[in-house]
Amino acid sequence: MPVLMYSFGILKWTQTELNALDRRVRTLLTANRMHHPRSSIMRLYIPRKCGGRGLLNAKTLHNREVCNLREYFLKVNEGMHREVAAVDNGFTPLSLAKENWRKPVVLSVNDRKEVWHSKELHGRFFRALHGPSVDFLASVSWLRFSNLFGETEGFVCAIMDEVILTNNYRKYIIKDGTVDICRACHSPGESIRHIISGCGRLANGEYLHRHNQVAKIIHQRLALHYQLVEFEVPYYKYVPDPVLENGHITLYWDRSIITDRTIVANKPDIVVIDRQARRAMIVDITIPHDENLVKAEKDKQIKYLDLAHEVVDMWSVDSAIIVPIVVSANGLIPNSLDNHLRRLGLGGWIKGLMQKAVLLETARIVRRFLSLEP
Ligand SMILES: [Zn+2]
Repeated sequence: MPVLMYSFGILKWTQTELNALDRRVRTLLTANRMHHPRSSIMRLYIPRKCGGRGLLNAKTLHNREVCNLREYFLKVNEGMHREVAAVDNGFTPLSLAKENWRKPVVLSVNDRKEVWHSKELHGRFFRALHGPSVDFLASVSWLRFSNLFGETEGFVCAIMDEVILTNNYRKYIIKDGTVDICRACHSPGESIRHIISGCGRLANGEYLHRHNQVAKIIHQRLALHYQLVEFEVPYYKYVPDPVLENGHITLYWDRSIITDRTIVANKPDIVVIDRQARRAMIVDITIPHDENLVKAEKDKQIKYLDLAHEVVDMWSVDSAIIVPIVVSANGLIPNSLDNHLRRLGLGGWIKGLMQKAVLLETARIVRRFLSLEP
């Protein structure tokens, strides 16, 4: 009974008070830069394993409790419960005697996902995340395991939600008369997608740096795997040697492969030659935009086909495989990545490390971009 009395006590909030409480929580999060004011609100309250940010929503908790308790009282329907139910005509928030009781709104996770999905801007990332070639669990794992600062996490979500104050956003969403020209490359269309993966001015500096972070993670793991280096260092401090060798393994980093026949694409990020197993692996890393995961992977496979044929004879190995490593600029991971890592003899856990590296770099690119004069 004391538990019941207590429950009744906290269940006395009105819907207006609950809405105000939710708004206050969001104001606090916004003030601490953990939630962008234009970011998806629904996503805040979706569990992290489902791609949300895992906050509990006071109104939902409250209303669910009211509904459960009312259902329980009416179901028992004997002894004290029946008597309480008979007289409760508005004494408690359950109003057990009222037949036309209005059930308060309880949003389920699916209801929230539906709203997130239906939004014009926020929904774009939702759709990409739920694409058939995307490894959903791996793609949302950063929300559970990467331990980003709340502020960084909020900023990354705002990038995914496409609500960053770009010239494109100002022209089409705020409609403040801004001319939609990229402040870096001066071509039309300064959208968030352009900034994180499509700007010609950022390709050789910013995007290459992000790409190299992922390439360094792979290179260091391979070097450790083949005992070509002794110690592990954080990937951002790792400086790959252009050539590492032991008795039967050669590991190249960003090196042009000289072939008898002229081959245009002759400089993959990483090459492994395993003379004992008589095979070569051509590894190339790419960070495309979310929708281009599959295409980027295929492009890499086609790009190095000639080189793969050529090196089989040249290095007298039985086979040369092409291993494309693809993570999108928003950290989406394709279903095929596990298989590619396995072919390299690497554990699936480094997906999380690569994803975190990409997201931190994407956030850094956007911050730096926004600091340029508009
Ligand atoms: Zn640009």
